[in-house]
Amino acid sequence: MESSSNPTVVLHACLGVGHLIPMVELAKLLRRHGLAVVVAVPTPPASTADFFASSADAVARIVAFNPSISFHHLPPPDYPDPDPDAFLQMLDAVRLTVPSLLAFLRSLPSVAALVLDLFCVDALDAAAATGVPAYFYYTSPAGDLAAFLHLPHYFATTHGNFKDMGKKPLLFPGVPPIPASDMPHTVLDRADRTCAARVGHYGRIPEARGILINNYEWLEERTVRALREGACVPDRPTPPVYCIGPLMVKGEEAAEGERHACLSWLDAQPARSVVFLCFGSLGAVSSKQLKEIARGLESSGHRFLWVVRSPPEDPAKFVLPRPEPDLCTLLPEGFMERTRDRGMVVKSWAPQVEVLRHAATGAFVTHCGWNSVLEAASAGLPMLCWPQYAEQRLNKVLVVEEMHLGVVMNGYDEELVRAEEVEKKVRLVMDSEEGVKLRERLAVAKEMAAEALADGGSSSMQFAEFLKDLKSSKRSSVEDDH
Ligand code: UDP
Repeated sequence: MESSSNPTVVLHACLGVGHLIPMVELAKLLRRHGLAVVVAVPTPPASTADFFASSADAVARIVAFNPSISFHHLPPPDYPDPDPDAFLQMLDAVRLTVPSLLAFLRSLPSVAALVLDLFCVDALDAAAATGVPAYFYYTSPAGDLAAFLHLPHYFATTHGNFKDMGKKPLLFPGVPPIPASDMPHTVLDRADRTCAARVGHYGRIPEARGILINNYEWLEERTVRALREGACVPDRPTPPVYCIGPLMVKGEEAAEGERHACLSWLDAQPARSVVFLCFGSLGAVSSKQLKEIARGLESSGHRFLWVVRSPPEDPAKFVLPRPEPDLCTLLPEGFMERTRDRGMVVKSWAPQVEVLRHAATGAFVTHCGWNSVLEAASAGLPMLCWPQYAEQRLNKVLVVEEMHLGVVMNGYDEELVRAEEVEKKVRLVMDSEEGVKLRERLAVAKEMAAEALADGGSSSMQFAEFLKDLKSSKRSSVEDDH
């Protein structure tokens, strides 16, 4: 039960469904442990409102779904001359919000801690100015964090650019070799401003008092050990790492109003027979690629449930809201009729968590967004990894090479993934001996996820450790001088 006399834990989220959803789940967990919680959400500057429109809609939906959580909307900062680079625009928007976050912290009678999304590194300044202990909540795999924390050292001690290295394996502590071309585009070119901004941020993460990770230790044991041993940041101490997940939206909460038609359709399919395809909150492929996928699914002979979005007109503007897809023109002629008995196409959005947990779902073609990976692992579903944007190529390496929970859709880094590859990988996962082994591994991953969250499980214990640290942390004297 939450006590109103408790100091407040302020969670500073970033715009974006994949960031806000896990932050809200953390807020719920903190509340269940009796803490007062507020989620502070930035509002995009007026000059970037069009660009962030789909995020703002998603934020409004998430707020509406969670009436038990207090949200504080930080006012939009002035940003008259937005950076032409979309990613830097987003980082600027967060940085320019720091003064209003600071004012908000000072307006509260007592703040126990500030928990930051990893894109909100500049908010460390607000924590320092108020003497409030700051923690990060990392909503991607520990493997990403291990690689990113190592980058400042890596760049300081090496030459060359990832973008010129092709698939050359990069060797970072605690993770499998990562092909240079699978590093996020923001760090491919060290001369680039985005790279400087990111590496500057990674270098500041050790300033935090602790790092919470939305994973469970079984998934990334070796990586978490490397982080804790300080192997990833050679030149200064790494803050304590707490693996507290998987924190995910529960199916029932994700459903709004009536049950989605795709769930009724799944009810009528045999157990573990359906391949589900969905590319996160933003992912969409070209119309040529949609037709290739359709051909591959058709020739695989398997049942499928496919979330189709309108192709982005400009790949650089993939976050802009898109119209409903016109299936008649996007999919091959006759495809819908020919596959009517074994396939369903859903426009734009499906209740993913419920689909993944449905008994009829047998495999998941995923863009490897971390929430999707956790949702699939917890449901015991093998993944066919098709990374699209952000850090998803890196996640793909970890899912396949470190966690052994999926296979790669080859061609993800070329113009097209061919229909033959879609068919081959669907058959591999659904029909082959390798698929059976993968399924066995996933059954363990599912069991371990449940075990981690149960009383006495690794995530419960590490969350308790974090609470102990939070309660013992004293506000420094900085605020007294204010
Ligand atoms: N999601 C959903 N239905 C969709 C697409 C996405 O419910 O049609 C949810 C999905 O379950 C996950 C989140 O949106 O919780 C996407 O987060 P993820 O980290 O996988 O990818 P991102 O959108 O951040 O790239």
